[in-house]
Amino acid sequence: MAGEPQGDCLFCKIATGDVPATVVRSTDTTVAFRDINPQAPTHVLVIPRAHYPDAGSLAAAEPLIAADVLREAAAVAAEEGVEGSGYRIVFNTGAGAGQTVFHAHAHVLAGRGLNWPPG
Ligand code: C5P
Repeated sequence: MAGEPQGDCLFCKIATGDVPATVVRSTDTTVAFRDINPQAPTHVLVIPRAHYPDAGSLAAAEPLIAADVLREAAAVAAEEGVEGSGYRIVFNTGAGAGQTVFHAHAHVLAGRGLNWPPG
């Protein structure tokens, strides 16, 4: 069923605690944890507990949870103290755009110069 945990999904296992992660925030619908391979001094991933393969499918099926992910991304930025200097929220969508884990997630990146256009 849509949104149900997938046994072979790494981020579903992080959401349940079966795979360890450095969790910085947690709500009924989301988990935020530090990226294992940080690309910036602040690099936190925010995931929905529900399994959807990407941000678009999450937003289509569960718009309130998609909003929770964005709200939590902003809360992470506030907690990390990077609101003032600026931060970037990224949803890589599709392998061609660099998505490697097919469970929706927002990258929250900050703490260094962030170029535009992105690479
Ligand atoms: O957007 P993309 O799918 O490439 O992002 C997946 C992210 O998950 C990567 O930045 C990777 O470093 C991170 N990751 C993690 N912990 C794991 C496996 C992957 O933080 N155990």
